Amino acid sequence: MLKSYKDDMVAIRRHLHRRPEEGWTEFETTYFVWSRLKQLGLPVTIGKANINTAEVLGRDEKLVADAMKRAAAHGVPEDFLQATGGYTGCVAVLETGRPGPVTAFRSDMDCVIVRESDDPEHLPNKLGFASERPGLMHSCGHDGHTAVGLEVARWAVEHKDALCGKLKFIFQPAEEGCRGARAMAAAGIVDDVDYFISGHVGGVAKLGEIGVMDGGFLASTKFDVDIAGTPAHAGNAPQLGHSALMAACAASMMLTGIPRNGDGETRVSVGTLSAGEGRNVVPAHARLQMEVRGETEEVNQYMGGYVYDIFAGVDKAYRVKSTVVKAGESTTLTACPELLDTVEDVMKAVPGARLIPRVHVPSGSEDCALFMRRAVQHGGQAAFILFGCNHHGHHRPNFDIQDEQSLPNAFAVYTGFAQRMNGLKKA
Ligand SMILES: [Zn+2]
Repeated sequence: MLKSYKDDMVAIRRHLHRRPEEGWTEFETTYFVWSRLKQLGLPVTIGKANINTAEVLGRDEKLVADAMKRAAAHGVPEDFLQATGGYTGCVAVLETGRPGPVTAFRSDMDCVIVRESDDPEHLPNKLGFASERPGLMHSCGHDGHTAVGLEVARWAVEHKDALCGKLKFIFQPAEEGCRGARAMAAAGIVDDVDYFISGHVGGVAKLGEIGVMDGGFLASTKFDVDIAGTPAHAGNAPQLGHSALMAACAASMMLTGIPRNGDGETRVSVGTLSAGEGRNVVPAHARLQMEVRGETEEVNQYMGGYVYDIFAGVDKAYRVKSTVVKAGESTTLTACPELLDTVEDVMKAVPGARLIPRVHVPSGSEDCALFMRRAVQHGGQAAFILFGCNHHGHHRPNFDIQDEQSLPNAFAVYTGFAQRMNGLKKA
């Protein structure tokens, strides 16, 4: 691999690491990505052009408006922000002008709501590229994913004469909470795709290891729940109040008590709960952000069914009114064994990397599954790769990815895949 691809990838990743943006607010990141793709001479569609707005979940208008102001103050031109229509993400297309397949590469761009470690030994602190935005951090490695996607696009442009067909570069917003892929897939951007590939840094893969996943994504549904109670004086007339706080607490306990399911693994998490107005007032409001997961679609639906029943039950018992809103969604991984054979073949040729057995342990969720399912439904094939790093756990304050070693492995797999699928001389 040319040193300049590696150097650029590392520089881009570290630049993005300093400016983490949470889902649906990635305006600075989208502008940065758009600018680089434009420099390459690629046509790029941004924001709303790639989004089916009817399928958008978990997007907060106020958060978006604030993010646009913040991005403008940080140098993103006003006309660019207007052109996004308030939606983040972008898609670039390389037309080679020669007949051949359509191959898509997908990178996610959002960060996690976690405060980066201030340990001086944590590499981003040591080298001065830690998050400048307190409480937000690229602690899942999506900064690395975006960096790889951009350099794969540059490689493709610089090797256009050796390629056929069409290559698409998808930069997706809001992966965390399983939101962005759903809206982009529903806009049809992978409907013409013959081969779709994406991946994740870390996971179960250690530094130097690469492999494909043929299962293991949990289907998941995210919910925002608002509970409306009735306020009253907590001392002289508590009987006139209906506590949203107590209802939320009861619901939280009941949710963790949903019976396990013999048909597959389940998960449930109440991640945030805020409630109440003042010490001596019966709490009139509560808000929960929660999620369920299942090893299959059916098991996930089983979990989701309980969520609605539990809040309906709590409404009756506590005389409150719950509003349950779906805030995100993903599905299980659609495996395409033949394509995985090809990807593994490409992986065997990556110098210095070790191919690990196919990964399918039930673990997290990844909304890329929705792109993959959509591509397969439209006659394409899809693959998801892992490229390892030695991390201390995703979504943790000291997460790091050894970018100089891990990112080149992903780059090698993606460009090798591009050569295999769209190369004039088959690699
Ligand atoms: Zn992630």
